[in-house]
Amino acid sequence: MSDETKRLVIDMVETMHEYTGVGLAAPQIHEPINLCVIEIDDSNGRYELDIAQPLLVIFNAKISVLDETPFGFWEGCLSVPGLRGYVERPRKIRVDYLDHTATARSLTAEDFLATVFQHELDHIRGQLYVDKVKDRTRFAFIEEFQRYHMDAPAPDGK
Ligand code: ZN
Repeated sequence: MSDETKRLVIDMVETMHEYTGVGLAAPQIHEPINLCVIEIDDSNGRYELDIAQPLLVIFNAKISVLDETPFGFWEGCLSVPGLRGYVERPRKIRVDYLDHTATARSLTAEDFLATVFQHELDHIRGQLYVDKVKDRTRFAFIEEFQRYHMDAPAPDGK
């Protein structure tokens, strides 16, 4: 990695931590390159999670869908603060990418982790989750979300 790229990655990780996010894509801090960082700490206060994912630095990611069965999650985004929206995405994917040493790697991700990857990689293409909320009654300010939706079952019973 060039010094410049290294600094960018460090900046992105710091920004992600500052906002207690689980991922950040370079275009979110106005760097138009195919790079994202993902890290899920099981003590993350933003989402109620029972999984952890150590820090991943992902260049040039390419997603292949392995299972199209929809997985729904109330997503949030540092680029659209204060909101949560229910989005369904394919539940299992493979991600081919280059890591921080430019080594080609591949991983599979399911359920919430698959959602995080797809959400971050959408940013690379300039897409936001808000355009994928199909049911407008399931798009809310965080306070509303916590009051009315957090403990409600999803429409598909999941
Ligand atoms: Zn986002």
